[in-house]
This record gives sequence, structure tokens and C-alpha cells, in this order.
Amino acid sequence: MEKIQMTTPLVEMDGDEMTRVLWQQIKDELLLPFIDLKTEYYDLGLPYREETKDQVTIDSAEATKKYGVAVKCATITPNAQRVEEYKLSQMWKSPNGTIRAILDGTVFRAPIMVKGISPVVKNWNKPITIARHAYGDVYKSTEYRVPGPGKAELVFTDESGKEQFRQTIYDFECGGVLQGQYNKDSSIVSFARSCFQYAIDTRQDLWFATKDTISKKYDHTFKDIFQEIFDREYKARFDELGIEYFYTLIDDAVARVVRSEGGFIWACKNYDGDVMSDMVSTAFGSLAMMTSVLVSPDGKYEYEAAHGTVTRHYYKYLKGEETSTNPVATLFAWSGALRKRGELDGIQALVSFADKLEQAAIDTIESGVMTKDLVGLWEGETPAKGVNSLDFLKAIRTRLEETL
Ligand code: NAP
Ligand code: MG
Repeated sequence: MEKIQMTTPLVEMDGDEMTRVLWQQIKDELLLPFIDLKTEYYDLGLPYREETKDQVTIDSAEATKKYGVAVKCATITPNAQRVEEYKLSQMWKSPNGTIRAILDGTVFRAPIMVKGISPVVKNWNKPITIARHAYGDVYKSTEYRVPGPGKAELVFTDESGKEQFRQTIYDFECGGVLQGQYNKDSSIVSFARSCFQYAIDTRQDLWFATKDTISKKYDHTFKDIFQEIFDREYKARFDELGIEYFYTLIDDAVARVVRSEGGFIWACKNYDGDVMSDMVSTAFGSLAMMTSVLVSPDGKYEYEAAHGTVTRHYYKYLKGEETSTNPVATLFAWSGALRKRGELDGIQALVSFADKLEQAAIDTIESGVMTKDLVGLWEGETPAKGVNSLDFLKAIRTRLEETL
């Protein structure tokens, strides 16, 4: 069989620990035999981030800006224990944070669904994709413990030094708490564009919700910016595709999401997204079956798995023990990136390979062959057979070869 040719390279961001092991196995078993894989390789593994003083992370994000599509392996975000373990000269920042800041993107997380593993919410028969606005709000707030009686005010001074407004927040008669939050129009605009862009890409409805009835300036600004951008830049394309932009109050959204059958994107403000993404991913079954893609407002894409480097399994692997780590989300990061590359470059063979690769992985699980994390969730007819990661990938390969 002739290998599929690529024209533009994918930006390949290698990572750490168990997922780094899976990364190589996925390439060896499922990609390199079938594709003349063209990548521009960046080693985001912690040792090389240390060696380059984290420049490699910045370079990989710049390359994503240049080429448009990246695929990323999970990486360690150092904490004090990691600084010790890897003898780091600094506690380097989260690579995902650095890349997101450079691309100004929004993260979309979606579950991979298989028959035999059903979501806790029985009527969810299509995936729900969550988009979290990862900027500002409570995550960048300033807060105080108020020690006792006194007046709290909200003051804004413009850049010329002129006080524009001053308002009493509360006249405290006793101790309490106080918090100041902000967000920026430019960040909300980018968030809105990424969401509309991704809805068009995936041909799904977009839902958005805030508490604008209570928060008449703060949350209302989110609502207004989304509506203006939608009407001006995206409505025509949505109409053409027959998809919808739907705005409602956050409490109404929560109720509707639970009653829905899924199949849409749910855009969330920062805090809502933090909380709801954990609820939705748990209800769909497993973090190991959750994909994640960073989409920039100007249409650059970085695909990855939603889970981390699976450290506990890696320590077993280092001791020579067999591990059954689930490679599906990492595999879907590759297929997502290859499909997007194929779409952008007009290489139908690459798009169709990505489809077949995903289907082979789903069919393998649906036939009862899976990694051990899924065995406990399995409700299928055939008894589940828990296998190690490499045997699981080989089973996918056998199925894939039948369809090529
Ligand atoms: P994790 O790597 O997601 O793993 C947490 C636990 O979830 C695992 O111990 C395992 O449970 C289960 N799990 C996750 N993915 C799995 C898979 N593919 N197959 C089977 N089981 C899976 O989270 P963590 O242990 O909190 O973090 C480890 C490292 O990853 C940290 O250094 C963190 O900084 C990094 N991290 C990176 C990213 C990213 O790059 N996007 C995201 C999150 C965390 P059992 O042990 O019970 O089997
Ligand atoms: Mg959370």
C-alpha cells in the first residue's frame, strides 16, 4: 500500500511520562505505517523545557501560528515536588497556559462516545462540547478579608488620573469579605469568535449563558458582545449551515442541558466552565475518553487529550510492570489534527484516514476489547476483555488495516 502524502507539516508537541510512551506507540503502530508523516517536532518534555529555559514551548506556539495545526502530548506542569524530581532551575509555567496566551485561544472539550458505555444522563446520546472562557473573572480577582466596620468602594481612575466613578459597595457594620473582578472586551471578543468558528467547523449549535438579569453590566456585556459579533460576522454562515446560536440564562441552560440529547457546544464563562466541564466529563464516563482542542479566534488549532501524563501508571511502567493506560484521547488528538490538516490542504485521503482510525478505535472497544479503566464502565453484551496499551493499539491496527 502506498503511504498517504502530506504537504504542510503538523506541529508535533511531544510531552511527558506515560503519555510520552503512548505517543511513540501510537506513531509506530497506527501512523507511520500508513502516512508519510510530516511534522515539525518540538520536545515539550520537561527535561528539554528546562534545557531551553522553556523557549521550546514558545517556539512551538509560534509554529502553530505559522502552520495552523498542532497536536500536543500531555505535559507536566511543575510544582514544588517536580522541581525537586527533575532538578529544575525554575518552576516553569504550564505549557498549556503559555500556548493559550500566545494563540489567544479557547479550549473545547468533547467526550468520545462508544456503545456499551453510557453516560449517567440517559438521554445524552450525542457528545456535549464545553468551551470555557479561560480569562479573568474570579481567577484574576483581588480580594480582602474585611476586618471590621468601614466603607468599601468601587473606584475607577482613567489613564489621565481623573476619577471617572466612585460607588459604595457596602457600608460594613462588622467584618466580612470583599472581591474585585474584571474582564476585557478584547478577550470576550476572542472567546466569542473562537466559539462561533468552532460551531461552524463542527456544524453544531452553539449555546451561551450568563446571569445577565442579575449582573446588568458585567454579565450583560458578555451577552451583548456575543450577540453583536454573531449578527455581524457569523449569522449568515450559521443560516447556510442550518445551525443555531442560542442564548439563555445560566440556570435555564443547566436545566436544558440535562434534558437535552446532546450534540451542541456549550460556551461557558470562566467559573461556569470550570465547574460544568467536570460535571459533564464525569457524567459521560471517563477523563481518558475526553478530547480537547484549542481554537484561536483566527482559526489555528491545537489538539490534545484532556487528561494529564498519568504519572501513577508511569511509575509502574518504570518498574517494568505492565500498564493498561487508555490511549484513545491521545489517538483522537492525532486524528483530529490530521483531519484538520487534510481539510486545510485539500487532502481527502488524510481526512478519510482520520475517520477510519477513529472508527477502528471505537469498533475495537465496542467489540469488547479495551483498556482496564473502561472495563468497570462496560455494560455491553460481550464480556469486556481488559488488555494492555500496546495490545489495545495492535487490535486497533488490525481493524484499521481491514478498512484501508
Ligand atoms: P492525570 O494524568 O489525568 O491522571 C489522573 C488519574 O486519572 C490517573 O492516575 C488514572 O487513574 C486516571 N487516568 C487519566 N488518564 C488516563 C488514561 N489515559 N488511562 C487510564 N487512566 C487514566 O492527572 P494527574 O495525575 O493529576 O496529573 C499528572 C500530571 O499531568 C501532572 O504533572 C499534571 O501537571 C499533568 N497534567 C497535564 C495536563 C495537560 O498537559 N493537558 C492536564 C492535566 C494534568 P488511576 O491511577 O486510578 O488508574
Ligand atoms: Mg474544574
